[in-house]
Amino acid sequence: MSKEITARSEDYSQWYNDLVLKGGLADYSAVKGCMVIKPYGFGLWEGMRDVLDKKFKDTGHQNAYFPLFIPKSFLSKEAAHIEGFAKECAVVTHYRLKNDPNGGGVIVDPEAKLEEELIVRPTSETIIWNTYKSWIQSHRDLPLLINQWANVVRWEMRTRLFLRTAEFLWQEGHTAHATAQEAVAETRQMLDVYADFAENWMAMPVIKGVKTPNERFAGAVDTYCIEALMQDGKALQAGTSHFLGQNFAKAFDVQFTNKENKLEYVWATSWGVSTRLIGALVMAHSDDDGLILPPRIAPLQVVIVPIYKNEEQKARIDEKVNALVAELKQAGIRVKYDDADHARPGWKFAEYELKGVPVRIALGARDLENNVAEVARRDNKTKESLSLDGLTGAIQLLLEDIQQNMYNKAKTYRDEHITPVDTWEEFVATLDGKAGFVAAHWDGTPETEEAIKEKTKATIRCIPLNNPQSPGQCILTGKPSKERVLFARAY
Ligand code: AMP
Repeated sequence: MSKEITARSEDYSQWYNDLVLKGGLADYSAVKGCMVIKPYGFGLWEGMRDVLDKKFKDTGHQNAYFPLFIPKSFLSKEAAHIEGFAKECAVVTHYRLKNDPNGGGVIVDPEAKLEEELIVRPTSETIIWNTYKSWIQSHRDLPLLINQWANVVRWEMRTRLFLRTAEFLWQEGHTAHATAQEAVAETRQMLDVYADFAENWMAMPVIKGVKTPNERFAGAVDTYCIEALMQDGKALQAGTSHFLGQNFAKAFDVQFTNKENKLEYVWATSWGVSTRLIGALVMAHSDDDGLILPPRIAPLQVVIVPIYKNEEQKARIDEKVNALVAELKQAGIRVKYDDADHARPGWKFAEYELKGVPVRIALGARDLENNVAEVARRDNKTKESLSLDGLTGAIQLLLEDIQQNMYNKAKTYRDEHITPVDTWEEFVATLDGKAGFVAAHWDGTPETEEAIKEKTKATIRCIPLNNPQSPGQCILTGKPSKERVLFARAY
C-alpha cells in the first residue's frame, strides 16, 4: 500500500512525518522551512480557531489587524526584544525587480532600495505598541483588549512540519492595562483559556507553569506557558502568555493619565498559540494506523460507508443513510456519507482510520434487515453493532466518551512520565530511559541551567504553578534549591 505508515517504535520522527503528509494535513513546499497546509489540516486549524476565537471574545477581546512589515527601527526599540529576535528575522530591502540589462534575467533593481528596511513580523509587539501610543491617553482608554489572527516569520534553521516552521499561523493577543495587577491577571486568565482549550478540546493534558529567565520571551517580565508531553517522551511548549511589564510602553512612550491625573506608563501582556498545536495533536494521540483526532475538534466526526452488492441494495441503504445523515447534522454532528463507488469499503476504512475520523459507521444490506449498523471507534478500535433506532443519540454519547477516553489515556501516560529524581546519575538515566518530565532540584542560576542543557539537551520546561515548596539540593551543583522544576528534552 502506498500509504504505509512507519511504526512509532521504528522511527518516531518518520512516523510523525508520514501522518502529517499521508494523512493529508500538510505538504512540503518549494520554500525551505515553509509548508503548505492542505484542506484537511486547514480544517483542523479552522476548528481550533473558531473555538479559541469565541473564548477570546467571551473574555472581552476584539480582533484587529496590523501590518505584516515592521520598520527596523521599531524592532530595535526594546533592547531584550531585538536581541532575542535579531537572529531569525527576514528583512525586506528593496521594493522592485527589473530585467537585467546584461541579460541575466530578472534582478533586484538596485535603485529601488528602501530608505528604511522592513522586517517581516516575527511577532507584533513593536508595531502594535507604536499604534497604541495614539490610542491610549487616559485611564478611560484602558484596558485595551486586542487579538490578531495572522502569519509570522521566524527564520528557523531546523524546521519540522507544524511544530517549527519559518512561517506559521497564529493568534497574538496584545493587551494594555492601567495596573501591573490587572495585566498579571490577564496573563493568567489567558493561560487558563489555553489550558482549558488544550485539555477539554484537544484532549491533551498540560502543565501550567512559568519559564525561567533563560527561556523567557524576549522583552517579557514573566513568561507563563502550557507544556504538553508527546508520546516519545519529549515535551512541547503548546502556548505562552507573557506579562510584559512596562517594557514596551517605555520603548514606545505610551503613557496615560491615571485617576489621580498623573502620567503613568501602561502595563502590557501578549499571548499566543500557533499551528504548532496541530503537530501537538498528532504527536499526543495518534497510532501506527494513522491520526486519532478528538471529536470536539475533528473536522469530520462521523463517516458512513455503505456495503452493497447491487444497485437495489445500494438504493435501500441510501434511503436509510440519507435520513440518518440529516438527523446527525440536526444534532450538530459533522458527518459524511462516503458512497463513492470507485473505492472498496476496506480501502475507505483504512483511509478514514489514517485520517483519524473518530467514528465510522458501516451499513450493509443484512444490517438493514436486522435494523442495525456496525459502529467502529477510532480511538480504541472497538466495534459494536448498534440499533438504527436512536442511533443519533448513541453516537452523541459515543463521541463524548471518545473525547473523555482520549484525555484519560493521554493523562495517564503523562502522569506516569513525571519522575522525581535526586541525583545526577538518576537524572541522566531517566532522560535516556523512559524520558518525559523529570522533576529535579536546580540552584536557580542561568549558568547551571545552561550547563545541564549542554550536557543532556534537557531544558527547564517550567516551574509549575502551585509548585510545593520542598527544599533540596541542585542535581548538578549540590547547592540549595527551594523547589523542584520540570526538565525535559523538548521539540
Ligand atoms: P512566542 O511568541 O515565542 O511566545 O510563541 C508563541 C507561540 O507560538 C507559542 O505557543 C510557541 O510554541 C509557538 N511557536 C513559536 N515558534 C514557532 C515556530 N517556529 N513554529 C510554530 N509555532 C511556533
